Formats: sequence, structure tokens, C-alpha cells
Amino acid sequence: MSKYDYDLFVIGAGSGGVRASRMAATAGKRVAVAEERHLGGTCVNIGCVPKKLMVYASSFGEEFEQAAGYGWSIGDRRFDWKTLIANKNAEIARLNGIYERLLTNAGVEIIEARATLAGPNTIDVGGRLVTAENILIATGGLPSRTNDEGQELGIVSDDVFFLEKQPERILVVGGGYIAVEFAGIFAGLGSRTTQIYRGPLFLRGFDSDLQEFLAREMPKKGVDLRFTCQIERIEKTSSGLLVSFSDGTRSEFDEVLYAVGRSPNTENLGLEKAGVALTAKGAIKVDPYYRSNVPSILAIGDVTDRLQLTPVAIAEAMAVVRSLTEGQSTELSYDNIPTAVFSQPQLATVGLTEAQAREQYRDIDIYRTEFRPMKHTLSGSEERMLMKLVVEQHSQRVLGAHMGGMDSAEIIQGIAIAIKAGATKADFDNTIGIHPTAAEEFVTLREPVAQSAA
Ligand code: FAD
Ligand code: NDP
Repeated sequence: MSKYDYDLFVIGAGSGGVRASRMAATAGKRVAVAEERHLGGTCVNIGCVPKKLMVYASSFGEEFEQAAGYGWSIGDRRFDWKTLIANKNAEIARLNGIYERLLTNAGVEIIEARATLAGPNTIDVGGRLVTAENILIATGGLPSRTNDEGQELGIVSDDVFFLEKQPERILVVGGGYIAVEFAGIFAGLGSRTTQIYRGPLFLRGFDSDLQEFLAREMPKKGVDLRFTCQIERIEKTSSGLLVSFSDGTRSEFDEVLYAVGRSPNTENLGLEKAGVALTAKGAIKVDPYYRSNVPSILAIGDVTDRLQLTPVAIAEAMAVVRSLTEGQSTELSYDNIPTAVFSQPQLATVGLTEAQAREQYRDIDIYRTEFRPMKHTLSGSEERMLMKLVVEQHSQRVLGAHMGGMDSAEIIQGIAIAIKAGATKADFDNTIGIHPTAAEEFVTLREPVAQSAA
């Protein structure tokens, strides 16, 4: 009989924590998970899921208009924010229930309380001390803010899902995933939307063709996109929030949404009591097997500040469970992880950008096409689509695929399998297309648009 209360105690029932506790309990471990807010964590409650529902909601407006080109007459239409939020809340409550059943059926003890570390094997959960052979920290991240004067008048992504009223005028600050996604959502729902980014071009780290593509497309959807622009001050007035910008202009908004990154959630977790070391950015420092410097304490997901994506947190959870239950330390590959930005239009990407490929390989070929998707030949929309392959000349291996336009996320998920399997350009060429689709362009890209010897 173990001298500990639990084999595994998980702090945080988000994407990583739910998967780890469920799989460890299924494998016969005695597991408890503590959650201070909602089961499912960020992704289910204030991230991926409600965000995607809002993206769907916001896309109807232009589709009603586009339908006219196909012969449809659509009558009076209105959007009701309260209905969307209420229906979204009901769906999230349903998902919370599913998570609870999944955990309970697997034999996990759910503790609805905040948990902190009291030692290498001791947890303080709601004032009660319990012990565990291993502790897994999966506490995620929290939205960051800036030092702008009056920044406290703004909101962050956690708040946006519960606004009482749709803002008529919104300013979105930032140039990452969350900023472009919410600028698209609000513009699509009819809010007058401005997005500012501090640098010359947003979406740092993405292929430059995708960055430029989205910068061209978002204004077509009504987003007033301003680069090299920052907030100097926000003041409350009788009619809204008056924002002074670094370029000397001033404008009034109903809401200012800060989407300027997320920081690892490690404050007041009792880490010092257990002697857990942090990185300079305040993330839990882990080895390739997710062990912290304290052997009994592991960490996965956003709290380790690597790739902040739900499928990554889940894959890390699976790796941890394998090592705890089978004694097999598996190292996860962080290469070729596909990702999508649910902007409007969407972006999706897998593998190396052109710039990364040029740094790592001598000679590369670039294949690229940009066109108007067939749907828009009659819809009246000016929306475009971009597809790009980055290929190593010598081996002909496809190093990266990048796409902007409708259904990009769905298409790149399939392409990612090919790239992960080491597909060459010839494998793409030998694949018969599905006609008529946009995706078939990925197997009919004949001539490189650029070839380089570094
Ligand atoms: P989380 O899911 O954040 O879970 C951490 C949990 O720990 C939380 O429930 C928290 O309440 C709990 N907790 C924290 N401290 C304690 C404590 N001391 N005691 C008890 N409980 C505690 N990723 C994608 O892949 N696709 C997307 O489309 C996507 N969209 C996103 C949209 C938004 C607006 C945001 C904010 C994120 C989005 N993400 C998306 C990122 C994704 O949500 C995260 O990468 C993922 O949720 C990380 O999982 P996690 O397990 O590390 O942490
Ligand atoms: P990101 O890291 O993606 O982007 C942060 C943005 O804020 C960058 O443009 C950054 O600029 C800017 N910024 C940072 N500090 C400041 C500052 N002081 N003043 C002005 N601008 C600033 O973070 P997000 O908040 O958008 O999202 C967090 C993470 O969540 C993402 O990285 C992603 O991993 C995950 N996520 C995933 C989604 C998906 O899969 N679809 C959707 C939403 C979130 P700069 O580039 O110049 O540093």
C-alpha cells in the first residue's frame, strides 16, 4: 500500500489536466484533479470552443449577402448578441457535464477547489493537506496586459465571452492569434472594428506570404487595420473610452480588447515551498519528459510556455501518463505541428516557413498560387485564397505548407499527415485531385515561383 493519498494529483482540469487524470485513472492509478473554475479549462470555457462558435456566428452576415449572387432573396435580418451568448453558455454547460462524467467514470476524484503546493509531495487543496507520489501542474496561462495609461479600462479575452452587450465600436490591441480572430468576429457581427499592432506587420512567426495575405484580406471585411500603432492613454468619457494613439490621433470606442499574449499561471501556486524552478518568463522549467527540477513534480501545457495549443497539451498529457504508467519515457516531437488561425479568412500552416527553410537548407523551391475561390465567382465577394509549398530542392521533401482562405484549417490537417510522413513534391504530384475543390491546387502546383541557392 502506497504511503501517499494518491498516485497522481493533477492541479488544473484544462486540456492537459483532464486528459492526464482520465488516462492515468483508466490505467489503474489513484488520481485526483483539482479545478478552481470550470472543468475543461481555457479551451472549453473561454478559448477554442466558444471562440469557434462566435466565428461561425459572425460568418453568417456576409453569407446572407453573398447568397444574393446565387439567386436568393433574404429578408430583414438582425443579430442578437444575448441569444448567441445564452446559446453558447448552454453548449459550454453541456460540455462541462460531459467532462465531469468522463472523469468520474474513469475513477478520477474531482475536487472543486484551488490547489497549491505545500511540499514536493504535499498539496494544500481548499485548506486540506493531501499527499501524492506525483503531482502534475497543468494550470495553464492567463491573459497579459500592457502598461498603457488607463489599460484597466480595457478587457481581455476571458471577459469577451460574457459581455452583456455587443460593442458598437471596438478596438483590438495586438497582432497574434487572439487579436486577429476577435477582430474578425466583431467585424463580422457588425461592430465597427479597429485593430492596432505595434510592428509593421502582424502574426510574427508565420510565413510572410500569409502575414501579407491576411493584411490584405481583413480590411475587405471591414476591419480598420493599423500597423506601427500603439496606445498612449485610455480615458473614460460619458460616451465611451477615448483612446489616444502613438501617431497622435484619438478615437472613441465602447470596448478596448487587449490580446497581447498570455503568461504562465504560476503565481501563488506554492512553487517555492516545493523548490520548483521557473524560467525567466515565469514558466515551469521541465525536461523533455515534463519533469521539473523536483522529481515528483511534473508540468504540461501552457504553464510550461511552449506551444500554447490544446492538441499539444493533450499530447504532452499522454506522454506523461505513458511514463508514469508504463515507465516508458517518451519524447514528443515538436516538429511539424499544424496550427490554424480562425481569422476571416482562415490561415493554416504546417512545417517550415519560407524564411526558416532558407536558414536551414541550402536550396529550396517555392510553389505558390493565389486565386479567387469558385464560391466567390458568383457571390460578389473579393475574398482570395493562397496556397504555398516550401520544398527542399535536393531531397524534394515538402518542408512546409501554408494556406489562407476558406477551410484552410480542414485542408491543412490532411496535408500535415503527408508532411509528417515525409512526403516529397512528387508524392503530392502523383496524388489525384478531388475536383472541383480548392484543396486540389496542392497537388497541381507545377512550376516553382522561386528557386534559390542560399
Ligand atoms: P488550461 O486549459 O488553461 O487549463 C488550466 C486549468 O487550471 C484552468 O481550468 C484553471 O482554472 C485551472 N487552475 C489554474 N490554477 C489552479 C489552481 N491553483 N487550482 C485549481 N485549478 C487551477 N488552442 C487551440 O489549439 N485552438 C484554438 O482554436 C485555440 N483558441 C484559443 C482561444 C483563446 C481565446 C484562448 C485564450 C486560447 C486558445 N487556445 C487554442 C489555446 C488553448 O486554449 C490552450 O493552449 C489550452 O487550453 C492549454 O491547456 P492547459 O491544460 O495547459 O491549460
Ligand atoms: P500571441 O503571442 O499569439 O500574440 C501576442 C500579440 O501581442 C503579438 O502580436 C505581440 O506583438 C503583441 N504584444 C505583446 N506585448 C505587447 C505590448 N506590450 N504592446 C502591444 N502589443 C503587444 O498571443 P495571443 O494573446 O494572441 O494568444 C496566446 C496564445 O494562445 C497564442 O500564441 C496561441 O498559442 C494560443 N491561441 C491559439 C489559437 C488557435 O490555435 N487558433 C487561438 C487563440 C490563441 P509582437 O509579435 O510584436 O511581440
